[in-house]
Amino acid sequence: MLPAGRPADQLLAELRGLRAGDAPTRGGRTFAYVYDAGLPDVDELTTAAYGVFATVNGLDPTVFPSVARLENDVVGTVSAVLGVPGAQGSFTSGGTESILLAVKTARDHARAVRGVTRPQVVLPSTAHAAFHKAAHYLGVETVVVPVDPLTFRADASAMAGSVTDRTALVVASAPSYAHGVPDPVAEIAAAAAERDVLCHVDACIGGWLLPFLARTGRPVEPFDLSVPGVTSISVDLHKYGYADKGASVVLYRDAELRRHQYFAHAGWPGYPVVNPTAQGTKSGGLLAQAWAVLNHLGHDGYTALARRVALASDRLLPGLRAMDGVRVLGDPVGSLVAFTVHGPAGTPDLGLVLHVADEMRERGWYLQPQLSYDGLPPNLHLTLAPATTDRVGPLLADLAESVAAARACEPVTVDPSLAELAATLDPDTLAPEDVAGFLAFAGLDGEQGLPSRMAPVLALLDALPTRLKERMLTEFVGSLFHV
Ligand SMILES: *Cc1c(COP(=O)(O)O)cnc(C)c1O
Repeated sequence: MLPAGRPADQLLAELRGLRAGDAPTRGGRTFAYVYDAGLPDVDELTTAAYGVFATVNGLDPTVFPSVARLENDVVGTVSAVLGVPGAQGSFTSGGTESILLAVKTARDHARAVRGVTRPQVVLPSTAHAAFHKAAHYLGVETVVVPVDPLTFRADASAMAGSVTDRTALVVASAPSYAHGVPDPVAEIAAAAAERDVLCHVDACIGGWLLPFLARTGRPVEPFDLSVPGVTSISVDLHKYGYADKGASVVLYRDAELRRHQYFAHAGWPGYPVVNPTAQGTKSGGLLAQAWAVLNHLGHDGYTALARRVALASDRLLPGLRAMDGVRVLGDPVGSLVAFTVHGPAGTPDLGLVLHVADEMRERGWYLQPQLSYDGLPPNLHLTLAPATTDRVGPLLADLAESVAAARACEPVTVDPSLAELAATLDPDTLAPEDVAGFLAFAGLDGEQGLPSRMAPVLALLDALPTRLKERMLTEFVGSLFHV
């Protein structure tokens, strides 16, 4: 039964209290998920701007013309930096939706223009998981091309070699999320264009940083729609645009392409539907707050913030490279850094990587563990934000301590009987009880809360075959949302 109503101040106090158990979103100690400009007035502005538009429904710009005006402003601003004359796009809820729409557009374009009925998307192995999700949702087959194991950059010629008559889309990242390394966009796009295939640049994380880094004088390889062959691009304003979550833009070279993104339906008795994006009803608040922060910071504001991010990486990278047994992966563009930790054998050591993450968490820092994949080493990922800049010294000091502490820890071992058991499990036929039992044995039970040290759990996960890993993760997250 619905509980009795409670006073607003009580509820707000409860909400604030819940935040105490979370990683901090401000203060530069959480190196994934959050992007702290270090500017309290930006946070005040986004909250206030959201409030002004919170009740507006972005579903219908004929009833709420302000929505079209704001969206044209936002997409126009993005296009002025990353587009070409005639480019058209949409404001979306995030990178995942932007990518979903770009893949849908490519699928429908390939069908309409080239008669492709069994479409494929060619991806470097470092492409964001959102492309796999899009392919899964949209019935598109993925063709994954390994990246160079030393530079972590996409292999442009291998990708060109994977293009077939069925290819609807080829993807490059600027840069990749996992390692912060830019793909050779110009080469990948040129090869796609030669076959008349569309090319999407995933600039979700780099798109609103790289142009401003370039303005500070840093070398930045061209990656936007002005590169010949690039036909669409995604950029998340809720990352280095410093908007609140729920703000991204997908941009196409021209109106003809964007048309394939739209969905219209007049064959029902309700109102005539035209949905440019995946959502129907959507709050105007997200668009309004993104518009406000873009216009508030402006060119000079973003350039100053990019300079601070660059300064953070200038301090961090030499510190990491000087640390014994620590290896930075590839040559990151600056804002994202992934490093691995070597064991006594001089090779990446999963147990050490995971212990370092736990040790850092105990010292109040969140670094994101990334597991091994297809010969690419397990590592810790850091997303640098302006608020990080003044924290690099303490971060490196705690990291040196954490690496030493990790080396002194019991090595992480996966119980061989557990690994053996896992090898016999078929992820597709496992009963939910079997999965639950396995998770409980591994120390993962959502209702019990997470273990204080994640290393043993993640090491076990790392050892599982991919499909089984996915099944376990699904059940585990399901147990977190146990109602
Ligand atoms: C963040 C990110 C995405 C996915 O975006 P969400 O906003 O998390 O949905 C896709 N690609 C890259 C490179 C990203 O960094």
